[in-house]
Amino acid sequence: MPFRSLGLSPKIVQSIHDAGYQTPTPIQRAAIPHIVGGADVIGIAQTGTGKTAAFVLPLLERLASTPSIGRHVPRALILAPTRELAAQIDQAMGQLARNQRVQRVAIFGGVSERPQIEALRRGVDVIIATPGRLLDLMRRHVDLRGIRYAVFDEADRMLDMGFLPQIRQIAAALPKQRQTLLFCATMSKEIEKIAAEFLRSPQIVEIGRRANPADTVTQWLYPVSHSRKTDLLIRILSDRSLTSVLVFSRTKHGADKIARKLNHAGIETAALHSNRSQNQRTAALNAFRNSRVRVLVATDIAARGLDVEGISHVINFDFPPQPEDYVHRIGRTGRAEATGDAISFVTPDDEPSVKLLERMTRKTIERRKLHGFDYSENTRLQHVTPASAFSNSERSRVSTWKPRPSSRRRVRG
Ligand code: AMP
Repeated sequence: MPFRSLGLSPKIVQSIHDAGYQTPTPIQRAAIPHIVGGADVIGIAQTGTGKTAAFVLPLLERLASTPSIGRHVPRALILAPTRELAAQIDQAMGQLARNQRVQRVAIFGGVSERPQIEALRRGVDVIIATPGRLLDLMRRHVDLRGIRYAVFDEADRMLDMGFLPQIRQIAAALPKQRQTLLFCATMSKEIEKIAAEFLRSPQIVEIGRRANPADTVTQWLYPVSHSRKTDLLIRILSDRSLTSVLVFSRTKHGADKIARKLNHAGIETAALHSNRSQNQRTAALNAFRNSRVRVLVATDIAARGLDVEGISHVINFDFPPQPEDYVHRIGRTGRAEATGDAISFVTPDDEPSVKLLERMTRKTIERRKLHGFDYSENTRLQHVTPASAFSNSERSRVSTWKPRPSSRRRVRG
C-alpha cells in the first residue's frame, strides 16, 4: 500500500519520498487514515515502529487544510516525556515538512529559555514540548487557546515519570474543540483513564509486534553470494550445538529445496509451508517440537504465530525485505527470557533491505565470516547461467587484479 492511498496530499507524499521512506509501516498504515479523517486516536506502538511519522504526517496534512486563525497562534501541541524525544520529533517534523511553510518550536528544559521565547514571539504553528518547561512558559509566553491538535507521545512514560499533574494542567488550558492523539507502548488502566479524560470516542490502533528485536537475541549478518548459501547453511548446521533451528525461506518452493538438500547432507530437516496439507504441517511441527528433527524450514506465513519453546537459532536463508518480517522472524527465538541467535544471509541484492532495517531499529548488525568456509564460486561455475557467472566471478576477480610490473611499465611508457 503506497503512502498516497492513506489520504495524504501529493505535496506531503513528495516530502515522504524525499525523506527516503518508500512504504508506510504498519502503525502508519493503521493510524494515518483515521487522523486525516479527524478522529481522536490511541496508538499503541513502540519506538522504532515509525510512530513519529504516524502522527506527524497526518498532522501536517490537517495543518495544511485548516487555515490559521492568526499568525502568532500555535495550532498544534505535541507533548513528549524527554528532551531527546522532543528534539527527535522536532527534527522529524522539520524533515517531513520541507515542502510546507510550518513554523515550529521545541520547548524543553536544560537549555536557555530565550531562543524558545523568541520563537514563540515570532509566531509558530506547532509546539513540541516537555511538560515542565511548557508549564513554566505558559505563565507569560505561550497561548494555547488556538490549539486544534494535541498529541501526547509516549503517554505511558510521561505517567511513569510522574507528569500526570502537569499534563492535566496543560490539558485544562486547551480548547475543548480539538483533535487529540495519544501514543503509548502498552495499554494500561492508567492510560485508559487519561484517555477517557482527554480523548473523545477514540479509534484504537495497535501494533502488536516489537520493532526493536528482543535484547535476548544475538544477531549476525553473513554476507554470501546467492550460489553459496546452501553450502554455507550446511556448514553452519554441521555444528551440533545448534540444537533447534528455524530456517526462513522466501518461497515455498525454496523451502522444499533447502529441506531436500539438508536431508541429503544428513541433517534431519522438516518443511512447513502452505502448500503442504494440514496433516503434513502438523507432522512437521510435531517432529520439530519433539526434537526428532533439528531443523525446520518455513516460509513467513507458515511461521506466523508459531510458538515453539527453546528454538536456539533462527537463520534467515533469504533476507526479509520488510523490517517487520525480520523482527517477527527473529522473535521466534529468545522468547520469554531464553536467549537465542539470529543469523541472516545477505547477498548484495539484500543490502537496501539491511539498511532499512538498521535505520528502523537504529542498530547496526555485526557482519561475520565463517572461518574456514570457501566463499569463492569457482567450484560452482559450471552450474550457473553464463550471465550470473560472469557478473559474480568477474567482479571479484577485477577487484583483486593488480597489473604486473611489466604491464604497468607498458602503460606508463
Ligand atoms: P520512530 O518509531 O518514529 O522512532 O521511527 C524509527 C525510525 O524509522 C526513524 O529513523 C524514522 O526516520 C524511520 N521511519 C519511519 N517511517 C518510515 C518508513 N515508512 N520507511 C522507512 N523508514 C521510516
